[in-house]
Amino acid sequence: MKIHAREVFALIAIVVGIGFEKQWWTIPREWAPWQPLYVADPLTPVTQWKLSRLAGNREACLAALETAPQGALEYVPLDDHTPVEGCPLSNVVRVQRGAAAFNRGFVASCPLALSWTLYEQHRLQPLAEEIFGQPIARVQHYGSFACRNIYGRKEGRRSEHASAEAIDVAAFRLADGRRIEVLKDWGGEDAAGTFLKRAQEDACGLFGTVLGPGYNAAHANHFHLGMRGVSFCR
Ligand SMILES: [Zn+2]
Repeated sequence: MKIHAREVFALIAIVVGIGFEKQWWTIPREWAPWQPLYVADPLTPVTQWKLSRLAGNREACLAALETAPQGALEYVPLDDHTPVEGCPLSNVVRVQRGAAAFNRGFVASCPLALSWTLYEQHRLQPLAEEIFGQPIARVQHYGSFACRNIYGRKEGRRSEHASAEAIDVAAFRLADGRRIEVLKDWGGEDAAGTFLKRAQEDACGLFGTVLGPGYNAAHANHFHLGMRGVSFCR
């Protein structure tokens, strides 16, 4: 009897199908695009895709935020509102603190809050432990919401800040009080410079737009971490 390739493929497809059905094997949750996002799950290339799908889905996004481990994120969901004419906010929360405190709380789109906690838990704090042997205790930022167009443009596209989809991070304070500033320490060959360089690189996998001192003079003193786009990092 001659076996055709077509029949072999059909048989394989059936066995694979039955395998999933019977759960002989499973795809880990963090690799399965159809599974919800859990903050504690390892980051994979699928994570950013899952994040992007939560932008228009308040319920699913808030459910994902709720999976943040104890102490990882303090926030309050906010009703849709228009703080400044022309810049309505929807699907937003007020972030009070992460594992590290902030100089002040801020309004964030739900996906931005989610990205921040993923970034802090999986990248930023482990990086600080690796380089300095201690966690980050405090993050200084310049704000998230500003009803304006993209920097330097009178006409045209609204900034990510106009919809609270970006945060400008200026400095980190370690548990022992040492301060690491983007303005002062960027480009250094020392531990602080290395930390900032890697912190920016690590942000690229989670935020859609990451801009720093290498982009332009307007970003000499902070990292812009925004949700639009896909891994635009400068
Ligand atoms: Zn910014």
